[in-house]
Amino acid sequence: METKIIDGLALSKQIYDDLEKRIKKLKNIGITPGLAVILVGESSASQIYVRNKVKACEKIGIISRQENYQDNISESELLKHIYRLNKDNKINGILIQLPLPKHIDTHKVIEAIDHNKDVDGFNVLNAGLLMTGNPLFCPCTPYGIMKIINNENINIRGANAVIVGASNIVGKPIAMLLLQAGATVTICNSKTKDLESHTRKADILIVAVGKPKMINGSMIKPGSILIDVGINRSSENKICGDIDFTSVKSIAGSITPVPGGVGPMTIAMLLTNTVESAERLIKD
Ligand code: NDP
Repeated sequence: METKIIDGLALSKQIYDDLEKRIKKLKNIGITPGLAVILVGESSASQIYVRNKVKACEKIGIISRQENYQDNISESELLKHIYRLNKDNKINGILIQLPLPKHIDTHKVIEAIDHNKDVDGFNVLNAGLLMTGNPLFCPCTPYGIMKIINNENINIRGANAVIVGASNIVGKPIAMLLLQAGATVTICNSKTKDLESHTRKADILIVAVGKPKMINGSMIKPGSILIDVGINRSSENKICGDIDFTSVKSIAGSITPVPGGVGPMTIAMLLTNTVESAERLIKD
């Protein structure tokens, strides 16, 4: 079987084209969408992620305001910056690059973001709205995955969807979205017994664990769609996903590559959420 390689980069470009038109319309009535990105500390991985998000904003005409703080910033000081951004009417979205230093309570910081500007969709109210089928902001990676699956014309209703990884930012929200779209959903975690017995039944397999190449060809159903969320470094120091691409190729129906699959879609959906947030100013 020839496995289709799903081009997440190309799909993200289509999304940017559409966003550019929507931003133009907003600018015509005096609104320029604005995203604030807060980075605490100097982790090089976080710096790269933030730089990519800021660059993507600039490319399509979203104002991005990057605020960098030293990793010894106090929790109360950081919260003050969030309250200030909550009130700033030029800012439609606020993103805190995770992880935060250990002395800061991440939950408290995420909860401080006005839910109307929580473009990552991580705070409790937004998680609840998603769970009850009425999302204000879908978390960006799950939102991007749904766009990929829909763009592939995969029939979700009645499909067996298996998700490996149960984090609040990927595994749980994608499970909710697939469930609401009519899939029969299984969520696996580190305690799951006989993982293969689940993954082999998956018509749609989503892997978000952070372990290089942990899923191989013997663990998948022939013809299935594989969504690889993982971003890892292989033993050869190359970026790779959680799925062993070489081993599943020619067994899977389609697969998102790493890099070039889910990653670009995550940024595209962050910008989509920011534009949607700005558009709500006219609808309200
Ligand atoms: P977390 O570390 O928060 O969660 C990992 C999940 O995997 C946990 O639920 C854990 O189970 C589960 N797990 C660990 N080992 C196993 C195992 N052997 N079998 C089954 N499940 C297991 O990770 P994230 O969700 O934040 O990220 C996952 C990966 O996705 C990372 O590589 C990250 O870099 C990447 N990522 C990529 C994005 C993109 O845009 N492409 C965006 C976000 C993340 P338990 O709950 O029991 O601990």
